[in-house]
Amino acid sequence: MTTSPSPIHVIGGGLAGSEAAWQIANAGVPVILHEMRGVPGIKTDAHHTDGLAELVCSNSFRSDDWEYNAVGLLHAEMRALDSIIMSCGDANQVPAGGALAVDRDGFSQAVTAKLEAHPLVTIVREEIAGLPPEEWDNVIVATGPLTSPALADAILKTTGEESLSFFDAIAPIVHADSIDFDIAWRQSRYDKEGPGGDAAAYVNCPMDKAQYDAFIDALLEGPKAEFKDWENVPYFDGCLPIEVMAERGRETLRHGPMKPVGLTNPRNPTVKAHAIVQLRQDNALGTLFNLVGFQTKLKHGAQAETFRMIPGLQDAQFARLGGLHRNTFLNSPKLLDRQLRLKAMPRLRFAGQVTGVEGYVESAAMGLLTGRLAAAQALGRDLAPPPPETAMGALVEHITGGHLEGSKFQPMNINYGLLPPLEAPKVDEDGKRINPKDRGRARKRLMSIRGLAALKAWRDAA
Ligand SMILES: Cc1cc2nc3c(=O)[nH]c(=O)nc-3n(C[C@H](O)[C@H](O)[C@H](O)COP(=O)(O)OP(=O)(O)OC[C@H]3O[C@@H](n4cnc5c(N)ncnc54)[C@H](O)[C@@H]3O)c2cc1C
Repeated sequence: MTTSPSPIHVIGGGLAGSEAAWQIANAGVPVILHEMRGVPGIKTDAHHTDGLAELVCSNSFRSDDWEYNAVGLLHAEMRALDSIIMSCGDANQVPAGGALAVDRDGFSQAVTAKLEAHPLVTIVREEIAGLPPEEWDNVIVATGPLTSPALADAILKTTGEESLSFFDAIAPIVHADSIDFDIAWRQSRYDKEGPGGDAAAYVNCPMDKAQYDAFIDALLEGPKAEFKDWENVPYFDGCLPIEVMAERGRETLRHGPMKPVGLTNPRNPTVKAHAIVQLRQDNALGTLFNLVGFQTKLKHGAQAETFRMIPGLQDAQFARLGGLHRNTFLNSPKLLDRQLRLKAMPRLRFAGQVTGVEGYVESAAMGLLTGRLAAAQALGRDLAPPPPETAMGALVEHITGGHLEGSKFQPMNINYGLLPPLEAPKVDEDGKRINPKDRGRARKRLMSIRGLAALKAWRDAA
């Protein structure tokens, strides 16, 4: 006689938790979803309803172009794995060009209704205000960037980390292949070797006085995101947004992150730059670089325009723009194993934004994956995460170790820089020469085709 597996507990009915519960139930395993919204007097600072999978801000899942956009590839992978978030998103689409945008209420109601109707899903409205009871041996924690303080404190104590919630001022990240190396050069300040033994670890972008003055004016005048009342936790590592530094005096940045000392421009060795912007490698693959000290609360549109004023970054493509909000996330590379389980307490698996991915789709994708991993465990099956060529596998790789060792772990959207690189093709499928300016685009397409094929192979082998 076969016994049915004991239920898996999912804490948090946001994007990740809803997706995890759906995947578990569809694998034939009972699931109990615990969501604190709906309990009188309990809410978060960003949600407005009691609906599952509520979108707290924009209504966009970003680009739906799977061939040329990494988040579009993630959409395609999730659709191939019967995602509830994607099917309800598709069913509640509103016009948004190449993006997938949804009617937020219709979307949340559809997710809630589907989960309520599933015979293996039980939804309990309660806050889990501490570590889950010990008899819960297979738990997914998907409590998001606004995890309730009681649970966040309990996780902190278990991990021995000093901090979990940050007033998150994040710096933009650019794709290395969009930096103009006819202007920029590689060198560490005073040619100092880093822990990896590299004396040329940084990319340097020089400015003369006129360029610096114009840049400071743009920073001071650019539109800034408003502070929210609920953003009252400390700055991450004491970082000040760059425009706040500029407000303190026009020279502040030249004496701070943009100081032009210890660096020599090989193309102009006798002339000292007035200021220098440095970029630091951001991922182990070396495909992404962050602007050092450039955490910012400039609005996204203004950021791209302002940072492209930096010589060498005039054509920069941004993998992530800077931003500012409260964010609760684990130091995942240190704390989680490849199954996204807490090493210190493997009965807890983490999903969603709390693992250090950024964005609705990325959070839901990690929910999807942990749901499948937890269900496989309950059924006594071995299941490894998808390979790193897939968008989903690349995210797992990033949060469990793909970021550069020794650097500060920061949340990340999916982007092609997280996937193993491919040589840009010179000819197309018909053997026709591809114009050099179109080769980057052709490479993205090849990476997407490779990713989706690998994902389907992983799914079919599971
Ligand atoms: C203010 C803000 C704006 C954002 N805007 C965007 C945006 O525009 N686009 C974008 O792509 N991403 C955005 N994000 C980032 C992120 O993608 C979303 O926060 C996303 O909702 C994360 O999904 P999640 O499932 O991890 O968390 P959530 O969707 O927040 O779900 C977590 C759930 O857990 C519940 N919960 C928390 N603690 C407990 C507990 N102890 N017991 C029981 N339940 C609990 C919460 O009520 C919530 O329902 C934003 C984040 C914030 C904070």
